[in-house]
Amino acid sequence: MMYMDKALQTDVVIVGGGLAGSLAAAMLARQGLRVVLVDLNEVYPPGLRCEKISGRQVAMLRKSPIVDDVLGAASPFSEFWVARFGRIVEKRLEGQYGISYDALVNRVRRSIPGTVVKITGKVTAIDCSDQRQAVSLATGEVIQARLVILATGLNEGLRRSLGITREVVSKSHSVTLGFNLKPVGRSSFDFPALTYYGEHPTDRVAYITLFPIGDAMRANLMVYRPVDDLCVRALREQPGASLGGLLPGLESLVGPVLVDGPVQIRSIDLYRSKGHLQPGVVLVGDAFGTACPAAGTGTDKVYTDVIQLCNVHVAQWLKTAGMGVEKISAFYADPLKVACDRRSFNEAFRLRSASVDESLSWWVQRRVRFVGQLARGTVQQMRSRLAVRT
Ligand SMILES: Cc1cc2nc3c(=O)[nH]c(=O)nc-3n(C[C@H](O)[C@H](O)[C@H](O)COP(=O)(O)OP(=O)(O)OC[C@H]3O[C@@H](n4cnc5c(N)ncnc54)[C@H](O)[C@@H]3O)c2cc1C
Repeated sequence: MMYMDKALQTDVVIVGGGLAGSLAAAMLARQGLRVVLVDLNEVYPPGLRCEKISGRQVAMLRKSPIVDDVLGAASPFSEFWVARFGRIVEKRLEGQYGISYDALVNRVRRSIPGTVVKITGKVTAIDCSDQRQAVSLATGEVIQARLVILATGLNEGLRRSLGITREVVSKSHSVTLGFNLKPVGRSSFDFPALTYYGEHPTDRVAYITLFPIGDAMRANLMVYRPVDDLCVRALREQPGASLGGLLPGLESLVGPVLVDGPVQIRSIDLYRSKGHLQPGVVLVGDAFGTACPAAGTGTDKVYTDVIQLCNVHVAQWLKTAGMGVEKISAFYADPLKVACDRRSFNEAFRLRSASVDESLSWWVQRRVRFVGQLARGTVQQMRSRLAVRT
């Protein structure tokens, strides 16, 4: 904790040092701006959130100066197997990484330049105008800035105090379960990583994805059920038996498995902000709106928001006086941000329908996807066999 005798003056104050806020601090400080970052915790605490960096997200991160720092802390894998209807349909080549969310955020924090003033504490109030912003801490101290970046994730308090409301688009949209799996009777799994899709719409399973984090094989199971559903409770209490009951074909593909350690469970509401267009303050990441974990687009939104905000907008805004809504609105209208938000939203509902909808049209779409992936996988295998021979 840093103590201040009088109001600290800065260019940008970032409230919230999760993935979005920490990445913003790392990027803006490298542009030579004066940045203050305030977060509740000195070290980001463990908890179930995003645990994988996809190939698409690696490409996004390459637009930030800290990509190598981040990826250096993660477990890489270059191939993952896709299974539908109980059989492997494709062995897809794509560089991905497993990393726990707290390790990811703490790694980003480590790459924040020493010029950033980091404060461990709680922000209790924000007063914004089109000139100067005032951010008050629980200790009574005040930070004055030209711009506030609100990156407080799911925490509603500060948004509400600014008159920003949440429009819940889909309550308890999906539930994520996170746990480690161990092979029984052998020392390792046969696959580098695997995504196994739900077997029948009535199971209300999107998929289970298995991937390495360090020495462990991590599993993320995505289901469309209420968090107090009997099946979710059974997965918490007797995970091994319940997993076999929910996805009976999984064991015949991966062999006998043991759930090792606790099962973490989180339900997520899909929401977006209303009333966020205000002078002096800009919302990024989950503070602006959530994504469905099953669709795996939450950190796409974080990376896109922060990279566009920092690479395109902030330095430009600071060149001229004032921080009125005409400046702030340019970020919310940024074409890459708008496209990313739209894709994330659409994918949340497409995947849900593809997983649980029992209508004929979705039945056909599932089969078409299955046949398409199977064809792609077969061609790929033939090509690699030919390459080995020549
Ligand atoms: C179970 C689950 C699984 C997910 N899986 C995936 C996935 O597979 N792929 C994917 O792309 N995305 C996934 N996501 C989404 C992704 O994890 C989030 O979109 C991302 O973590 C949001 O980051 P953030 O920085 O906006 O919020 P956070 O990381 O929550 O950071 C918010 C920060 O604000 C701080 N804060 C809050 N209030 C205050 C205050 N008053 N004063 C000071 N500090 C404050 C907190 O301490 C915290 O550090 C998942 C999410 C969940 C819940």
